[in-house]
Amino acid sequence: MGDELSLSDIRQQIVWLREERKRLEDSLFRPGKMMRASLVFLANYCGKKDCKCKRGEPHGPYPYLSERRKGGTRMTYVKKRDLPEVEKLVEEYVRFQKSLARLTKINEKIRSLLEIIRDINCQGVDEYRKKIIEDKKNPKIKKSKEK
Ligand SMILES: [Zn+2]
Repeated sequence: MGDELSLSDIRQQIVWLREERKRLEDSLFRPGKMMRASLVFLANYCGKKDCKCKRGEPHGPYPYLSERRKGGTRMTYVKKRDLPEVEKLVEEYVRFQKSLARLTKINEKIRSLLEIIRDINCQGVDEYRKKIIEDKKNPKIKKSKEK
């Protein structure tokens, strides 16, 4: 009976996870435009002598697109007038990646719950072997057990 209860709990959990997965998949199905980068704000040192940055007052911070590429990180300066649009693109990329990661988590969770269901429903071969041995020992009892 304990098994029955936990089985229905497990099934309920799977139902909730599938509902969440459906919502996630819908939100991933038609994403907005995006840009594969993160936006960072960096201070600048121009290097000119007598500049305030030489005295520890850097310029900026200025927005940059930071991309991971083969061989390191590439930085691209973002013009002030482009910042709102670029920000939107990057935010959509971040949102998409987060949703993808959540989708993977949900799938893993559903899989592990299904494995629990499998194990509850799984009969061991050892059990079957014992039954064969018992049947050999007591052929008459075996008959009477069968209905
Ligand atoms: Zn300077």
